[in-house]
Amino acid sequence: MDLINKAIQISNKSSDTIIVFKVSDDLTNVIDGLNANLGGIQDLLLAEFDSGIHIINIDADSSLKYAGTMDSSKNGLITINPSAQSSQGRGMLVLGHEVVHFRDYKANVSNWSEYKMQTELNAFAWEEANYKNFIPSSDHDYYGTNIADNVRKVKNGTYNHGH
Ligand SMILES: [Zn+2]
Repeated sequence: MDLINKAIQISNKSSDTIIVFKVSDDLTNVIDGLNANLGGIQDLLLAEFDSGIHIINIDADSSLKYAGTMDSSKNGLITINPSAQSSQGRGMLVLGHEVVHFRDYKANVSNWSEYKMQTELNAFAWEEANYKNFIPSSDHDYYGTNIADNVRKVKNGTYNHGH
């Protein structure tokens, strides 16, 4: 937890969809990757949202057990473990995964507990569709396998939801 946040605003060409990220200063690779539009991350994230202004708070916590979480009890606060963003590309994958959860939570507040499996499938589908934008080709096999393993766990009920 820290109190210093950097605001990063992105919008689509017609400016009808705007996302304002308020990101902990500790998440250097997330900030730099977003600002540099690494792998086209800005359009990839904007495409996940309906028109309007979306404000997403992203905290840092190095004691987090997972790479990232989205907390439905804190109005969709995303927390990312700084150590999970070992590169800007990895930071973008963690960010995209948690942003999909945020988007799903905001659209399913009233039935969120029943939506847990679906949002996990959505988040991993986003990673599956986009990881090659962010990960060097030498690591594609590893990441592809890792995502497939996680999808299998979600489907058979052994994935630990909450991240
Ligand atoms: Zn997840």
